[in-house]
Amino acid sequence: MNFKLKTSREMLEMKKDENFSRWFDELLLNAEIMDNRYPIKGFAVYKGWGARIVRKITEMLESKLEETGHAPMLFPVAISEDSFKKEAKHIKGFTAEVFWITHAGKRKLKKRMLLRPTSETAMYPMFAQWIRSHADLPLKIFQSVCVYRYETKATRPLFRMREFLWNEAHTAHRDWEEAEKQVREAVEIYDEVFKSLGLSYYILKRPDFDKFAGAAYSIAFDAWNPDGRVNQIGTVHNLGENFSKAFGITYEDIEGRQRYVVQTCYGFGISRTLAAIISQHGDDHGLVLLPEIAPIQVVIVPIPYKGSEDEIKKYAKKVFERLNAAGFRVYLDETDKTPGEKYYYWEMFGVPVRVEVGPRDVRDKHVTICERVNLKRISVAFEEAVQVIKETFEKIKRDLKDKSLSTLKDMTVDASDVESLRRAIKSKKIARVCWCGSIECAEKITEESGGEIRGQRIDIEEKPEHPCIICEREAEKVVYVARAY
Ligand SMILES: [Zn+2]
Repeated sequence: MNFKLKTSREMLEMKKDENFSRWFDELLLNAEIMDNRYPIKGFAVYKGWGARIVRKITEMLESKLEETGHAPMLFPVAISEDSFKKEAKHIKGFTAEVFWITHAGKRKLKKRMLLRPTSETAMYPMFAQWIRSHADLPLKIFQSVCVYRYETKATRPLFRMREFLWNEAHTAHRDWEEAEKQVREAVEIYDEVFKSLGLSYYILKRPDFDKFAGAAYSIAFDAWNPDGRVNQIGTVHNLGENFSKAFGITYEDIEGRQRYVVQTCYGFGISRTLAAIISQHGDDHGLVLLPEIAPIQVVIVPIPYKGSEDEIKKYAKKVFERLNAAGFRVYLDETDKTPGEKYYYWEMFGVPVRVEVGPRDVRDKHVTICERVNLKRISVAFEEAVQVIKETFEKIKRDLKDKSLSTLKDMTVDASDVESLRRAIKSKKIARVCWCGSIECAEKITEESGGEIRGQRIDIEEKPEHPCIICEREAEKVVYVARAY
């Protein structure tokens, strides 16, 4: 593998806890993840390191989708206005954010088109043509593409962009029961992928006023972020018959009757998942990557010593060959930098394991292994290196997951009155509150605290122990309140 990476500075100046936002921006640029200086606001360039990580995340998700019977497809980016306008609530939800295509050269187009803000209205006219009988169901498809939304809120690289990368899956079923089963499968798939990335989040059923435009209900994955603003990394929607009625997607059932399909769709925010990985796992040294998604899993740094340079070089090559043969993505750093500079450099890029090879290692036929999460060093025999690195990978996964989960727990606080809710949101927490279910109280919560109701958990049942935090009538639900991206 040949990596040529150059950065303007080799170390981060910002500390994560002191100024998260600047730490994040500095890291994106220095670790060659994304360059946000593209001359259109809300659009940015994925650079080598970032694009490689994105590819790994996408592969993890796509292989899970294929295993569960979803077929990959690629739909056009342009949607006709007629098609877009078919489902009333859907248009209402997206109209304000649409990029319109209005001209071809100087000629005004007779019929406007738009860039997909999401692909329901691109796909469902085709579903109506493909689906004829019960034998065509279920239909389960996905695509990993960019979508376009003219965000009116302040844009942030990876978190909130006008062009962003996601994977969207769309399914059609015979009845409500099958669609419900599909929703559960989708939640499981996302949960597995996010968990294997070591991320922590709440899986919340969104309140009705905040569901996807055109859905019967929506479930979302809200990941914690150091600045207290939760990051929605995935959503799963049961669309019911809303779209099948609008697009005339029907099938003939076993008795020969024409029936509408019941649909689901779900979106996995690839850009936002990358943002969550950086934010949850990163530290003052830079990125911390899980071995699964690290473009380089092991970097070898030779430590030359006067008189034994050649010997060390030769030994480092031997170590490289062994690790490479074992199937690791390994890189031998033979650049002119000092070993210390190389350490900082590769720590910033989040490489999970560093192998140091110095004179003593050569003499003892050992290597020194340093892992990225705790930056601890151990010395192991050459013969054992492969096994120890494999174990270290497992340990890194466990450590990152545990650390992230304990942060989520620490960030979550109970608030039983408005004052404590206000304090919680102000101190970048996620508040757990009891709510009566009324829209007025929901609005009051936002007005008073700046946080918004994100929804109730679906993985566990939580019964309200207090009255509604605002009106003090009987509470219907326990909900999570936070600021959000
Ligand atoms: Zn209330």
